[in-house]
Amino acid sequence: MPEIILKVGRERSIIHRHPWIYSGAIAKTIGDPRIGETVEVLSATGEFLARASYNPNSSIVGRIWTWNENEPVDPNMLKERLTKAITSRWEMKFIFHSDAMRLVHGESDGLPGLILDQYGITYVVQFLAAGVEYWKGEIIDLILKITNAKYLYERSDVDIRQLEGYPLTSGMLRGKVIGKKIFITENDVKFQVDIINGHKTGFYLDQRDNRLLVRSLSNGLNVLDCFSYTGGFAINALLGQAKSVTLVDSSSQALSMARENISLNNLNNNNVTIVENDVFKYLRILRDSATSYDLVILDPPKFASTSAHIERAARGYKDINLFALKILKPGGILVTFSCSGGMSEDLFQKIIAGAALDAKVDAVIIRRLHQAPDHPVALNFPEGAYLKGFVIQKRS
Ligand code: SAH
Repeated sequence: MPEIILKVGRERSIIHRHPWIYSGAIAKTIGDPRIGETVEVLSATGEFLARASYNPNSSIVGRIWTWNENEPVDPNMLKERLTKAITSRWEMKFIFHSDAMRLVHGESDGLPGLILDQYGITYVVQFLAAGVEYWKGEIIDLILKITNAKYLYERSDVDIRQLEGYPLTSGMLRGKVIGKKIFITENDVKFQVDIINGHKTGFYLDQRDNRLLVRSLSNGLNVLDCFSYTGGFAINALLGQAKSVTLVDSSSQALSMARENISLNNLNNNNVTIVENDVFKYLRILRDSATSYDLVILDPPKFASTSAHIERAARGYKDINLFALKILKPGGILVTFSCSGGMSEDLFQKIIAGAALDAKVDAVIIRRLHQAPDHPVALNFPEGAYLKGFVIQKRS
């Protein structure tokens, strides 16, 4: 088996079971491994540390499959990992209150770069790193065997795949789904999901619990749902008896689906306003017209996919949070999120503190929010905790 040998002292993170090996940690590659092939990872003194998939095109050259010298990387191992990940979700299904859930969450399930989401009888898979791409055929066969999926669709059309040196690709792997409408039921709300053109694999499954929380907060309030996508938070606010709900998103496609989702749930839309605009601009329009809200939700897209873009991302987060705090009534609630992997919860909190300071607002955190439990975080992989949010109350 080909080998990578680490520089002196660079074995520490691997001994602590972090699954990534950066190019800077590697002293030598032996045996000319192909992209995605399994390599043995050795310390500078030649001790076995792990087996990893190899990708010289990525800054993360190695993604560790196993730290166990006796565990070969083969279809049997993949079968064990997939089965464990999928059955752990199905066994916990009663806490999701949904027929849509994440079954495989990459590194945190011991399957670096693999995402598998279930939408009823339809499954959507993403191959986002070299190792899982190398074993793609085997993984697809195993998914079909374990889940008995009637429909399996691939959405490997995510930017980070380009960081790994692969082209974007998507399409049907089993069944014919084109033109088929997919519906899910989450906490008694029906949503239409577009797995072909929608974001991620079609739906933001990670916000499930937070949408329910917004439902519980909305009674009698005027709610502003910024970056509304297909109406996840807005519909929950309506179900929670909000006085009015305004959805803002720049995508007309997402908003027309939000409209469909509102009527799908037989909700009265007399008190619903749908605004197609840039949130950065629209918040300024609201400030200039002295329009205020009781509850504002900010669930923007990822502003930084890697830590290299953190500074620019920080400016974006500060801007929208500053204006949201300004247009909130005293006593009002801001529910604000960051799904940027490179941004820590600590930094996000500092950014919000800066926004409150500049907005001359006195505010407190009353709750901290995270991704839903079908998106677990392996203790050896803190980067898995990408979604963080705060419920903030404006005191004055
Ligand atoms: N809250 C949603 C998910 C939000 S995803 C849910 O629970 O389902 C982020 C959304 O922000 C996408 O719909 C995207 O179209 C929108 N978006 C991205 N940049 C934007 C901008 N500058 N202004 C308004 N909407 C934007």
